[in-house]
Amino acid sequence: MSKSGYKTISMSESFSKITLLDCLPITIIHSDSLKKEVIKDIVIAIKSKYTKLEKFFQVSNVDVTIFVFADQLSLHIFACGSVQPSWMVGFGGDKKIMILDPSTAEQVGKTYQDMIKTVVHELVHVFSWHNNCHKLAIMTEGIAEHFAERYNYEDIKHLARNINNLSDKTFKLWLNAKTSEELGSRQGGYLAAYTIIEYIIRTYGAEKLKEYFFSKDVAPFENLNVEPSQFIEGWKNFLRETYL
Ligand SMILES: [Zn+2]
Repeated sequence: MSKSGYKTISMSESFSKITLLDCLPITIIHSDSLKKEVIKDIVIAIKSKYTKLEKFFQVSNVDVTIFVFADQLSLHIFACGSVQPSWMVGFGGDKKIMILDPSTAEQVGKTYQDMIKTVVHELVHVFSWHNNCHKLAIMTEGIAEHFAERYNYEDIKHLARNINNLSDKTFKLWLNAKTSEELGSRQGGYLAAYTIIEYIIRTYGAEKLKEYFFSKDVAPFENLNVEPSQFIEGWKNFLRETYL
């Protein structure tokens, strides 16, 4: 094993380098210009969560290829075939992650750390794809944010403060969003998704979350034996009691 835990090989095309991890089935495809420190931070982020994800999703040795793009337009065209909302800086699915070079974070209104956490977020999507897990956006995005640990206490406190101003319609839209785009276009949808996972773990336990996550595509409350309105009230109370 090399000292850094990975090695980089030169190629001749526009993605000019391949970085292979020594101990995990991960390949990073990137340009010559991607800084060494960025590769190192991506590798550290992946290594810190890979084993936890194997355990949670009950699969091992999931192959992942990570494509790192120098600009957002190329990322969007390569990943989706068209321009996407500007907040979309990463995509993850069938054995592939496509992300924007974290050192360009400021150009898209993000921080460098936020972008590194996006790599973990997308890695979770690769694992859930592999295991054909739950399809509701609030759950898949929530579990991705849970492992990415993107949100801090202040972010959640802000949501908790505004909780009474949010209509039942907003909660229902969050709960029923079918796609990540739909969830993300609702203000605070991803943050809400993060807190719903936190709420389920604290109230029903991590095992129940796992059991629920591997079950068929139903709304969160359907496997927890509560009424939808009761579930939403419990979630709101949890936010107020924990963060205010
Ligand atoms: Zn996502």
